[in-house]
Amino acid sequence: MTRLIFLGPPGAGKGTQAHVLAQYCNIPHISTGEILRSAVAQRTELGQKAQAYMDKGELVPDHLMIELVRDRLSYQDATVGWILDGFPRTVAQAKFLDVLLQEVDQACDYVVNFDVPDEILVDRLLSRGRKDDMEEVVRHRLEVYRQQTAPLIDFYHDRDQLVTVDGNQSVETVNAELQQIIQAHS
Ligand code: AMP
Repeated sequence: MTRLIFLGPPGAGKGTQAHVLAQYCNIPHISTGEILRSAVAQRTELGQKAQAYMDKGELVPDHLMIELVRDRLSYQDATVGWILDGFPRTVAQAKFLDVLLQEVDQACDYVVNFDVPDEILVDRLLSRGRKDDMEEVVRHRLEVYRQQTAPLIDFYHDRDQLVTVDGNQSVETVNAELQQIIQAHS
């Protein structure tokens, strides 16, 4: 059973790596950003509430994210493990996740922190061409990450749950390191 949280700034490669590793481990890749983008595309109530925040590069409010994750983790496929990509992004979300996992008698194995220098992130994000990847929004998303999400590095480090990976390497190299980490911990 593998349960991982992928933590790191936008553009660090979390999504790409989570996709490959989830297939390798045969567990769902749960990307809160993807779930939100699909809610926006389908114009659901959640999507309509989230869109303005996403377009500006702001975080969607915690109470909406908490409901989204509570719901997604209750699906049958999540009972065999998961990779959470892009959640938690605030200390409040991390605390909520603790409580939720306790309720369902699960525990996260560890948190993978993707470390990538800012200049590389900006280049990567600008070449991706997503709607929220315009330069001004990209810089704001990085600022939001530093302020609201980076404190989670200490939060999980203090609990001995953090493993840091150098994300400034080829996709294949990072993937091989992640597979090693999983084997070492299983
Ligand atoms: P991502 O695809 O993970 O980069 O997420 C895209 C956007 O979705 C972010 O810039 C936020 O606006 C929103 N989002 C995704 N996950 C979260 C989260 N855990 N908390 C708040 N907002 C989120």
